[in-house]
Amino acid sequence: MATTAGVLYFFAGLLTLLAFALPQKAGVPVEFVRKISYCGLGSGVAILLFGARIPRWGYHLLLLLGNAFIIIGVYEGGGGTTSIACTTLFMFVAVDVFFFFAWPWAVLHLAIAVGSCVGSLALVGALGDGQVIITPGALIAVALVVGRLVRAADAAETDPLTRLSNRRGLERVLGQSLARAAQTDTTVTLVVLDIDHFKTVNDALGPVGGDRLLRSVAQAWRPLLREGESLSRHGGDEFALLLVGSPLADAPAAAKRMRDAMPSGTTCSAGITAAEPGDTVSLLIGRADAALYEAKRSGRNCTTIHEGNRGAEAAELRRAVADGEMAVFYQPVVDLRTGDVTGVEALVRWIRPGPTGPTIVPPDSFIPLAEASGVIDVLGRWVLVEACRQTVAWSASGSRLVVNVNVSGRELTEPTYAADVLAVLATTGLPARQLVLELTETTLEGTSAGACAALATLRRSGVRVAIDDFGTGYSSLSRLDGLPVDVIKIDRSFVSKLTADTTRAPLVAAIIAMAGAMGLTVVAEGIEDLHQAQLLDSLGCNEGQGYWFDRPLPASQLNLASRPLGVLATG
Ligand code: C2E
Ligand code: CA
Ligand code: CA
Repeated sequence: MATTAGVLYFFAGLLTLLAFALPQKAGVPVEFVRKISYCGLGSGVAILLFGARIPRWGYHLLLLLGNAFIIIGVYEGGGGTTSIACTTLFMFVAVDVFFFFAWPWAVLHLAIAVGSCVGSLALVGALGDGQVIITPGALIAVALVVGRLVRAADAAETDPLTRLSNRRGLERVLGQSLARAAQTDTTVTLVVLDIDHFKTVNDALGPVGGDRLLRSVAQAWRPLLREGESLSRHGGDEFALLLVGSPLADAPAAAKRMRDAMPSGTTCSAGITAAEPGDTVSLLIGRADAALYEAKRSGRNCTTIHEGNRGAEAAELRRAVADGEMAVFYQPVVDLRTGDVTGVEALVRWIRPGPTGPTIVPPDSFIPLAEASGVIDVLGRWVLVEACRQTVAWSASGSRLVVNVNVSGRELTEPTYAADVLAVLATTGLPARQLVLELTETTLEGTSAGACAALATLRRSGVRVAIDDFGTGYSSLSRLDGLPVDVIKIDRSFVSKLTADTTRAPLVAAIIAMAGAMGLTVVAEGIEDLHQAQLLDSLGCNEGQGYWFDRPLPASQLNLASRPLGVLATG
């Protein structure tokens, strides 16, 4: 789309520039049209360079703007032959409409182009000599032919059995996504899904039964697709789910969503891989297929990830955990009423040795890889043990704190997760009521029945569960009721909006009120100044965390004294 729009804009600009360079009738404002032409030329180049970033709706604007440019050209041509020549540029719009949009929008844009063509000719009094028939008629004919060709090309990319896109369609979209990813740094992840024992089904039910199964799988999966996801059937009983813009760590949950929706009595296996710099379509599909093969080999009905070249990085991370290069830093959680430090959040760091001394690697740089590669299982457990042990040590020296530990979705899917956590509490001697497990909204939303049961077991034993980064996922306030949680942590993006001159914060106030009414404890994250702390307190927020109280620090440097808070000055 971007290339087509860019080329047409460029040529429209170039052609008008050349046309108005020829001798014109007296009174034609050549200078003005030249400026407009340069605009067209420049826009064309910009669209060619940055078109990948233009959202879909942006193309509606581009077409309308194109119409406006041409109308100016026709008008400024003064009704002479240059005006008539300019109307042929409406042909560019006609080419685009069906190429860019589905029928209803295409017809609307075509009607606007035809209207603009007739209107601008009428404006300059040049409707005679059959112009009213020939140019608009040619526009409609060209648009219809392009529309027909585009539909034929679509059909070539559609699987007639499932109405999903076929391998050819997948390869084209994948190619475009890879090109865009290279420019915009978005992630592209491919999940291939293959029905287990499909051959047996096919042999037992015959090809008609096999086709029916393929159709019902497609029907079951289609409604599960989220934004940025597209599904295709890329051969036999193999489907491909393309995820654009979501991290590799989210892909196992997407694969699970599909596997859980399989028609009863059937299962499927999944292979996942993420695009890396320099990847081609066939390399990416090849890696996903290799991962799928692994999943089949390890007993089917499961998901395997191919880490590509990140395998070496994952091995290095695993080594670092084993060699004790990880450290837990703690950030205080403060009671906003009294200023007392009531707890801490455990935040992992990688203290990486280097030739010029150790560097502190923040978790955002390695947690996604740890999650994708499974290293999170050992790392998460290590952090939990370390955090529990430290909290027991604080208790022994007189500070009874609650410790918050972050948990990844993948850890929760381990069948022994609840038992493992309870075992850590037992061996370290930390009472369950002093532990809060933090899960993000997205993790909580995607939890399976097994993970829900694990959370329920833990909550029954006194461990509390917090929704981390509340407000950044899909949960609505109304869904809070059904989630197995005790604490909500309002994401810092909401808190950072509470500036010095904010006196009213309806959204944050609503979250706090609703959560409070449900008996949940509310913690605000990312408090960076006293005003935010005081305002949140006045809104009924129980606790707060943020740089204003302290950054995450090693246990030995943590200041556990009460923080002075004062009262919010109102005025
Ligand atoms: P999170 O759970 O949302 O942790 C809070 C992050 O916000 C921390 O970043 C913290 O340093 C930062 N932060 C705290 N107060 C402020 C503030 O006032 N302003 C600003 N701008 N930032 C503030 P950090 O330590 O880099 O951790 C990043 C993320 O890494 C965490 O986000 C959490 O999702 C993940 N993470 C950290 N440790 C672990 C772990 O042991 N296991 C798992 N699964 N994830 C972890
Ligand atoms: Ca957290
Ligand atoms: Ca958070």
